[in-house]
Order: sequence, then structure tokens, then C-alpha cells
Amino acid sequence: MKTNLFRPAVGALALAVSMGHPAFAKPYSPEALRQLIVQTEELAEQGKQPIVMFDLDDTLTNTRGRNLRILKDFASQSEIQSAFPEASQKVSEIQIDQIQYLLTDTMKNVGVTDADFIKRASDFWLAHFFTNEYCAKDEPNPGAAKYLHLLVRAGAKIVYLTGRDVPRMGEGTQRNLIRNRFPMNPNHALLLMKPDPKLDDLKFKESQYSVVATMGEVIGVFENEPANINSMANAFPQAHAVFLDTIHSPKPDVPQDRVEWVPDFKIP
Ligand SMILES: [Mg+2]
Repeated sequence: MKTNLFRPAVGALALAVSMGHPAFAKPYSPEALRQLIVQTEELAEQGKQPIVMFDLDDTLTNTRGRNLRILKDFASQSEIQSAFPEASQKVSEIQIDQIQYLLTDTMKNVGVTDADFIKRASDFWLAHFFTNEYCAKDEPNPGAAKYLHLLVRAGAKIVYLTGRDVPRMGEGTQRNLIRNRFPMNPNHALLLMKPDPKLDDLKFKESQYSVVATMGEVIGVFENEPANINSMANAFPQAHAVFLDTIHSPKPDVPQDRVEWVPDFKIP
């Protein structure tokens, strides 16, 4: 249905304001997904190696579920329940669509204002978000695994380029990709993670572009962070640069004009 392809302007504005983000939106271009498969087939026929690069968090997988699991585990601790009965009750009832990028916004969203409770929840979040245990259970964004297998079948190699780091999340990330049935055969897929948690996400990603470029022809890049997709759009001017309109950091960047937007990986 055509109306589903467009993010409603009024809703987008309201969402952007409520999440503290700049108000920006663009009609979705899910046809870019199919165009990449066709392009992959054409290049493969010419004996070339097409490469398509994907971010993980809030691009291929969904961190809202991880945030929800962490908050519920925090609020189910008996010590927290007895110290903050009302706030922990509210948190135990949070639904996934109430989860915002920032924990403080999620709390505001469900009417929790107790600063001590929010501080303890933030500490608990920080100790658990970047862990094998929690990331291993992430759910895929709709259509993601199927789409990647279609690309592989057409002849593409998949590069997973993530800001997650090996020491804290390497093992859980591998388990999660297998659990969600993403391509993991080393002939078809490569996982690139930060060797050190202290590295900046975007700087690490930029340091990997030349590595990825030696593997073949980069024809598609996918990201949910505006600053990252802009960097990739500049580094790979011939590639489709696709922005996942999920959730992203409150940094002020806006995807540049040539970036195509999709809400998920469902091919129209
Ligand atoms: Mg991301």
C-alpha cells in the first residue's frame, strides 16, 4: 500500500520533538533493496565481487528489546522494588514501543522522575547493555536475515561493520547472528568489530573502509546513525547509501540528500 511507504509528516514531527531530535524525514525508498539485488546479479555475471555493508545495532537488529530486557531485570530486583515501589512498577509495565534512544527519555515517557531511581537504572544499564549476555538475545529488524540471504544468493559478500567491541560483545554477537539466521559462512560474510571498547565508533568504521574496498566493489551501505551514513555515502560515492529509520543518537546530524530511507528490510 503506497501510504505505508511514507512516514507521516505530522507523526514524524511529533516523534522527533518528543525524542529531542531535529525534525527531519524523507519518503521511504524500499525499491533500493531490490535494486541492490539486481545490481549484485549483474556484477556477479561480469565476474566482479559485489560487497554490501551493514551496521548491526538498530540497522539489522533491534536494541529496543535489549533496553527493555535490561530495564525489566533492573526493576525486578527485590532491593529496587522495596526502595522504589511505584517507579519499579511503572518500569515493569513498559512496552517496547515506549523505549527511546536515551534511558532518561524512556523514563520520562512512562512518568518516572525519581532522580535516584533513574541514576541507579542508568548504572545498571551501563553495566549490562554492552555485554555478550544481553546482545545475544537481540531480535532482527523485519526482513533483515531474508534480505541478506537474497543478496548472498545473488553473489554478494556481506560485511557486518559494527561499533560493538570484541572483548565485551564478540562472542554474544556471533551467537546472535547465528540465532537470527544471518549469513555467517566466511565465504559470504565478514564480521568487523572494534578490538578495543575505547575506540570511537565512527572513527573505527572509517578505519575499515579501505579494508572493505579491497574485497570487491562496495555497492550498498546501511546505517541507522545519520553521521555514519553520511560518512559512508562520501567514502563510497557509487554505492546505494541507505538510512534505517529506526532509532538513533540525539546528535544533530541529518542524512544527506542522496541517502535513501527505509523503515526495515521488507522488499515491496
Ligand atoms: Mg547502529
